[in-house]
Amino acid sequence: MKRKDCLFCKITNKEIPSKILFENELVLAFLDISPISKGHTIVIPKNHYSNLEDIPNYELTEVYKEVKNLATKIHKNLKIDGYNILQNNFAAAGQVIKHFHIHIIPRNYDDEKFRIKIPRTQAPEDELNEVYKILKF
Ligand SMILES: [Zn+2]
Repeated sequence: MKRKDCLFCKITNKEIPSKILFENELVLAFLDISPISKGHTIVIPKNHYSNLEDIPNYELTEVYKEVKNLATKIHKNLKIDGYNILQNNFAAAGQVIKHFHIHIIPRNYDDEKFRIKIPRTQAPEDELNEVYKILKF
């Protein structure tokens, strides 16, 4: 399952060169060419799925196993203080390339490039009740 117009499918097919850190039958990981920080890595399923809702659970599990392995390796070998795992779904959430992918973004205490500052306030009780009624199983 590949898309001819998809950048990540082209990387998977080796039509576009990349710095591949890991590869097996289902998963590919490579360095982001426009990194937020040194060692910013992208992990993808080799098959084309648009987002979290499309990827089968088995392949999602295989992708996440390698996210864990790579994040651990990046943490130790690049001697970083921590990392963010980021996965955007749909354009409204900042997804640019419509091939499911997970970012591993190395972080350090003194970096100021990628600070998440999201204002949070206590939700009103009626809003929590409304959302709870819609979403509970
Ligand atoms: Zn693709």
